[in-house]
Amino acid sequence: MAHRPAFRLVPAAEGVHLVRGPAVNWTLIAEGGALTLVDGGYPAYADTVEESIRALGRRPGDVAGVLITHGHVDHIGSLARFAERHGVPVFAGAAEVPHVRREFLQQATPGTVLRNAWRPRVPPWALHLVAAGALRDCRVAGVRPLPTEGPLDLPGRPVPVPTPGHTTGHLCYHLPERGALVTGDALVTGHPLTGFTGPQILPSMFHHDRAAALAALEALATTTAEVLLPGHGPLWRGGPADAVARAREAAARVW
Ligand SMILES: [Zn+2]
Repeated sequence: MAHRPAFRLVPAAEGVHLVRGPAVNWTLIAEGGALTLVDGGYPAYADTVEESIRALGRRPGDVAGVLITHGHVDHIGSLARFAERHGVPVFAGAAEVPHVRREFLQQATPGTVLRNAWRPRVPPWALHLVAAGALRDCRVAGVRPLPTEGPLDLPGRPVPVPTPGHTTGHLCYHLPERGALVTGDALVTGHPLTGFTGPQILPSMFHHDRAAALAALEALATTTAEVLLPGHGPLWRGGPADAVARAREAAARVW
C-alpha cells in the first residue's frame, strides 16, 4: 500500500482550519456539527482528507458540501471518491463546472512540465505529483454549479468571489463572519517551484491567463479579512489589500 501523505491542521479563525498537505492545502469550515470542505488535494490524498476531518473530531459524513476553487488535479483529485462514498454534494462556479467535468482542460500538460524540467526545482516536484496521482482521471462528473450570489447555504456561509485567470471559473471563498478568505490558487503564499514564501502568484505555466490572474487580485484587495487561506503555502495573517500589494510586487520574481 502506498505511503499515506502527512498533513497538518492549522487553526485560522473561529471554526476554520487550513489543512496543509505535502504539496497543496484544503480548508475545513465548521458550524455546529457540520462542515464545509474547500478543495481536496491530489487523488492519492483521499484517505488523508478523511483523516484531517477525523482529527477535528468529525466524520466525513458531517461534511454538508464541498466547494471547489478550481478544477486542477491538486484541488479536486480526491473529491469524486469522497462525494460517492459519503453522499456529499460538490459545487463549483458555473464557469468552472465543465472544467471539473473535464469537458476541456486548462492545466499545465506533461509536455509543459517537461519543457520546464531544466529548472532545478521542477523534477522533484514532478515526481511527487506523479506519485500523488496527477495523471489519473480526476473528473467530478456530479459537480453542481453554485448560485452567482452569496452567501451560500453551507456551514460558515461562504461568499464566492469570482477570480478568473488561473482558470476561467476560479472562485475564492470569503467568510465575512469569520474574518477569513480562502484564496485557492488566485493568491498563494508559497510553492515548491517558487522557493520563497509570502503572498505571490504561481509560476506562469500554471495559469490559463496570467494577465487576467493578476487583474483578478483586485477582487481580493477590496475584501475585508484578517487571515488568508491559500491553496499553496502557509496561512497568511494580515489583510487582503496588503497581501495583494505584496503578490503584485513579487510577481516579477516568479517565472
Ligand atoms: Zn494548485
